[in-house]
Parts: sequence; C-alpha cells; structure tokens
Amino acid sequence: MIGSGPNGLAGAIELARAGLEVEVHEAEPELGGGLRSVNLTLPGFVHDVCSSIHPLAVASPVFRDLGLDVDWVHPDAPAAHPFDDGTVLLLERDIGETAGQLGVDGAAYRELIEPLVESWPYPYAPRAFLELRASLRSALAAARPLAESRFRSERTRAWFAGFAAHSLLPLERRPSAGFALALLVLGHAVGWPFPRGGSQRLADALASRLRELGGEIHVSSPVDELPNAEVVLADVSPRELARIAPLPERYAALLQAYRLGLGAFKVDWALDGPIPWRAPECARAGTVHLGGSFEEISASEWGAWSGRPAAKPFVLLAQTSLFDRSRAPEGKHTAWAYCHVPNGFAEDMTERIEAQVERFAPGFRERILARHAMGPAELEAHNRNLVGGDLNGGKMDLGQLFFRPVRSLLPYRTPLRGVYLCSASTPPGGGVHGLCGYSAARVALRDERTRYRRPRSSSP
Ligand SMILES: Cc1cc2nc3c(=O)[nH]c(=O)nc-3n(C[C@H](O)[C@H](O)[C@H](O)COP(=O)(O)OP(=O)(O)OC[C@H]3O[C@@H](n4cnc5c(N)ncnc54)[C@H](O)[C@@H]3O)c2cc1C
Repeated sequence: MIGSGPNGLAGAIELARAGLEVEVHEAEPELGGGLRSVNLTLPGFVHDVCSSIHPLAVASPVFRDLGLDVDWVHPDAPAAHPFDDGTVLLLERDIGETAGQLGVDGAAYRELIEPLVESWPYPYAPRAFLELRASLRSALAAARPLAESRFRSERTRAWFAGFAAHSLLPLERRPSAGFALALLVLGHAVGWPFPRGGSQRLADALASRLRELGGEIHVSSPVDELPNAEVVLADVSPRELARIAPLPERYAALLQAYRLGLGAFKVDWALDGPIPWRAPECARAGTVHLGGSFEEISASEWGAWSGRPAAKPFVLLAQTSLFDRSRAPEGKHTAWAYCHVPNGFAEDMTERIEAQVERFAPGFRERILARHAMGPAELEAHNRNLVGGDLNGGKMDLGQLFFRPVRSLLPYRTPLRGVYLCSASTPPGGGVHGLCGYSAARVALRDERTRYRRPRSSSP
C-alpha cells in the first residue's frame, strides 16, 4: 500500500483480512494522511491539520464493521448558520426540531428529507429506490433551483446553501444540492461527530487494527517507483501514480487530464476562550457555516471557481474543543476554519477569514493567542495528495463523481496487472469513509483469485 490516509489504511486492512502480507509505505513522518492531528500553535493545543468532522466515517459500513476503538464526541447540534441580525438556524439531530425552526419551510423540509432519513442506510435497495425517486432526483440537482423551488424563506435558502457549498461547486452547478441533502441526512441519521483527542485517533485505531492482522506500516518512506509486490494499491493522486508507475501512454494522459477541484485556505487558532458568538446558540454546534445569505455564499463559490475569491468568503468553522476538553489546556480553546480558493491560489486569506468570524462573533480577534495558516502550497507540502490545495482528490461534478479518475466501471484498476488506485480520486470520492480503499482492495482480491483459478496455458 502506498500512502496511509483513511483509504490506504482501510484498503490495507481488507487485504490483510484476506490473508495477504501487507506493508504500508507512507511518505510523511506521521501516518494518517488527512487524519493527522498535530500541535500547530502553542503547547497543549491539538489541531486537526485537515479533516475534523466525521459524519462520513461514522456512516461508513467499512469502519463500522471494524469495531474501531474511537470515542466519538457528538456536539449538541451538528451545525449552525448565524445571520447578521444575531439569529441562527441550527441543524439539529431531530428532524422535527430542525423543521420547527424553519417556519414556513418546515413542512417542505420534512417532505424533502424525511423519506431519505427513514430509508437510511439503504436508499439504494430496489424498493426504496422507487419510493425515493423524487428525493434522489433532487440529489442530482443544483442547489439554487432546488432551494428556490422548495423553500420560501431567504433564511432557509441561505441555511441550505451552507451545506451545498461543501460540494466545492458553484451552487448553480449539479449536483451541489446532493451534497447538501447527504450532509443533512447524515446529520439526522448519524450526527456529525469527531474523535475525542483529534482525528489522529481514528488513523491510530485503523493502524492498530492493521497491525493486529499482521500488517506493517513504514513512515518517512516515500515511494518513487512501483514496489515489487503481487498487489500494489496506491492511495495517491492520479498525477503521483503517473509519476511513479510505468503506465501506458494513453492511460497516463487520461490521468494527467483528470480535473482538479478548488483549493482550501485554512487557519487554526489557539484561543483564550470560546468564540464569543453574537447568537449564543452557535456554541451548541460543532460546525458553524459563516456566509450570511444565499447570494453571498453563491458569490463566494463563484469567486473561487472563477479565480477571484470573494472579499467575504464562505467559511466553514469547527469548534471541537467546546465538546472535547482534551484538545486545549483548561479554559482555552482551539478553532479550525477554511474557505475555498482557486486551485493553487497564492494569496493570504487569513484576514478575510478572520473578518468573517468577527462579523458573527464580535471580539473574536481579542481571543486569539496564536494562529497557523495554510494555503494550497502549504497543504500540498503537508500531503502531496492535496494537489493545489484540492481537498477532495479532484472535482466532484457529475462528470467526475461516479467515474474517477477515468471512465470505467471499475476505475480502481489500472492497465498494469496488480496495480490499483485507491485514493479519494476513485469512487465514491473525497471525505473520510475508507470506501475507496476498501472497494479497490475487493477488486484486487477478486482479480487475484481469478488469476490463480485460470488454467496455466491461458495466463498472460
Ligand atoms: C483542510 C481540509 C479539511 C477537510 N475536512 C474534512 C472533514 O471535516 N471531513 C471529511 O470527511 N473530510 C475532510 N477533508 C477531506 C479528507 O481529508 C480527504 O478526503 C481524505 O483524507 C482522503 O483520504 P485518502 O486516504 O484518499 O488520502 P489522504 O488522506 O490524503 O492520504 C494520502 C496519503 O498518501 C501519502 N502518499 C502520497 N503519495 C505517496 C507516495 N508516493 N509515497 C508514500 N506515501 C504517499 C500521503 O503522504 C498521505 O499521507 C478535508 C481535507 C482538507 C484538506
């Protein structure tokens, strides 16, 4: 296995469970890829360098089956969306409570979301599929037409936009609505928790499961050419695979043509106290969406998409230390926030991000003890899979959602026998769920079995 991100570790575990001798080679000194937590600011403060909020991990059948030793912390509410007038809309675990806050749009929200939550976790079973046709059609839509046709209040539309913007797509592009629906359904079905002690705990739990199965992990071990092994799974970017593997020219060209997504600009803070939200209910949520109105969030995403980030970018903020006291010294806090920027963008967005927090939490700046900022270049230096700061392993529009990085039913396979791609640049894409790694491992194991069952004369 090349790389020890969540997909690499999940894939390695599946291979080891099938009885293979597995070695993981990780370029960086710490294992975990996007799950690493380190001290970025002051002693005693733990920061998640990339991923922090893990609805996809708790929803993942792969991680669930492994019975990992992770203490999941659930904030009172998954997410909050404050407005300039000091009010807020929350995504609550309970559908009724959430709908209750949405006023005139409460019934429309229930109608949209309830069938999906009720069918969880099997929305793709044939019967459910028929019953859910309308909801699933909405999932392939763009956020703007869906919000404008379903919701009457500007507040509900703005709230919905915050979830849709996780797609890193303009809200007028498909399937940005699907990202919102998925995150809302997860909020009700499983919550938006995080591991006590930092995301690193999830990586460590995966690593110890792998070691129990006999697997080995080598850190500070960058792979620059294909290892000599029967099966090689690569938790790497398509470009990195093209760099290290002698791929046929045509396939290598397809990998080079794979489209990158937006980058991220991220700031971590060590704080003297909790964030002083104007709407105090924001302190009930682990994640806070800072973007104001639908039009502002839309303009922010278009800005990043078209190369000119907005003056008031949409900011995604996590405040895990409010619910997990192990992340900061007594009375102190951490916060994690990022906005979307053009891929490879080189300007400093710290001031714009902090202004957005200050807008909804006057006095925030006075609580900052230390900060650490990472633009696309620093993110890529931290983890070479984050090409140009791209946090989803490639654009997740309709063209690259199901077929990534190439148009094939099993895009994990490469033309090289025994070599598979298993990073977030394969289906189902970005996020911490391990499904790319697991699926690639299953394909590899099936191919291996077929190879050995074939009569000798027909083997290549
Ligand atoms: C700022 C930010 C915030 C995010 N927030 C969230 C969130 O809250 N929730 C969520 O679910 N997701 C989040 N994500 C996305 C999530 O982190 C990724 O989708 C996920 O980590 C992808 O997992 P992976 O295993 O495919 O790759 P990665 O986690 O990127 O791991 C790949 C590993 O492979 C190693 N590697 C690459 N090439 C080589 C080589 N040649 N030799 C050896 N090792 C190599 C890398 O060093 C790295 O450790 C966030 C990402 C970023 C950047």
